[in-house]
Amino acid sequence: PNSWEARAEEYSLYGFTDLPSVRDRGTVVVTHGEGPYIVDTNGTRYLDSNSGLWNMVAGFDHTGLIEAAKAQYDRFPGYHAFFGRMSDQTVALSERLIEVSPFARGKVFYTNSGSEANDTMVKMLWFLNRATGRPQARKILTRKNAYHGVTAISASMTGKPYNEVFGLPLDGFIHLTCPHYWREGRDGESEAQFTARMAAELDEVIAREGADTIAGFFAEPVMGAGGVIPPSGGYFQAIQPILKKHGIPLISDEVICGFGRTGEVWGCETYGFMPDAIISSKALTAGYFPMGAVILGPDLTDRLQEAIDTIEEFPHGFTASGHPVGCAVALKAIDVVLEEGLLDMVRAGAPRMQAGLAEIARHPNIGELRGIGYMWALEAVKDRDGKVPFDGSLSVSERIANTCTDHGLICRPLGQSVVLCPPFTLTDAQMDEMIAKLDASLKQVFAEVA
Ligand code: PLP
Repeated sequence: PNSWEARAEEYSLYGFTDLPSVRDRGTVVVTHGEGPYIVDTNGTRYLDSNSGLWNMVAGFDHTGLIEAAKAQYDRFPGYHAFFGRMSDQTVALSERLIEVSPFARGKVFYTNSGSEANDTMVKMLWFLNRATGRPQARKILTRKNAYHGVTAISASMTGKPYNEVFGLPLDGFIHLTCPHYWREGRDGESEAQFTARMAAELDEVIAREGADTIAGFFAEPVMGAGGVIPPSGGYFQAIQPILKKHGIPLISDEVICGFGRTGEVWGCETYGFMPDAIISSKALTAGYFPMGAVILGPDLTDRLQEAIDTIEEFPHGFTASGHPVGCAVALKAIDVVLEEGLLDMVRAGAPRMQAGLAEIARHPNIGELRGIGYMWALEAVKDRDGKVPFDGSLSVSERIANTCTDHGLICRPLGQSVVLCPPFTLTDAQMDEMIAKLDASLKQVFAEVA
């Protein structure tokens, strides 16, 4: 094969191979980026409204982040965080993470990805329960439509039917109803009643399974890869007391929400709840280095210490855990988002994005516009009143995404929805370009399928 596209398809596998949409349109081979744009081997520019995979929040050419990585490569290009040794950058990052976390004190464990951070958290819970006389407390509660990653544990936590092809979930991973009022609410049920039903279901599941068999409850503040699903009103206020009553830790998976995506530093701030631990990745390094982190609050910090004192060691860690270049990049990324104005840009830009999308959502084939901050989804429906999805092997959302690509806009089809989660650096003109290209593509596809 000669072309980059043909060579890519001949030798490379990509994540979630092989979506019909990719088969239909072919591969885009990217050489570099300019602000929020990616550029392919043919020189074509695309506005990437998905920030890569939600992670490139500072765009693709942020000088400060690149310099931070270069400087650390010059200083000390690699080390681990094992056996009582770690780099100075790792020390500094943990201190900074606890400082910006909602926790008064805590500790941080590093991984290379969000999936590994979720696995690490689950293994920590299993470990500390065993060490403290509760070996039966192993079950993990999550929600349908949740996305927590792809490793065996985090895929088991993920509430998507596609993991059946692996024979997952593993035993003991229980998926509750997705708190999506528009889709899951019953006829005549108010949002408050729906939230109360979600809480009652949690109560019932805990009673059925036995509180002493449950290790933890994991939730994304806003479900991301499930199709941008903010919780129903009062959801976390309703479920947190139930978890507290039974001594079940609430873990906030902030891999997408963390560091500004919702317009606050943490999604748990946006939704007003206090988790026992936070899972972070993606924006943690603005996507400039692969890294994940488990951030433990005070209670889990103490319980882990007690368990380590009992068992002697927590036998877990990755070669590149706490990599000094990753930590240096993360320290810079936190400054860029929190001190150098990116979070303010999300706060300022979110109403403009919402208003632009709301205009598009007036189209009769849009069933729901949902989101917050810089994470939004438009759900396509054949019939708005009946919330009826379109049929066909290539879904309408995939056709919309492909048409957007043809118009120089990358956006993501997720189920029946099209998702936009742009870099925080977007200018007003780039925001308007994104909205206009989406609008044109959507109208074109709806005209074809209607
Ligand atoms: N948790 C959430 C909420 C995510 O959105 C993702 C990835 O999209 C993950 C975990 C897994 O992270 P990774 O792909 O880095 O393993």
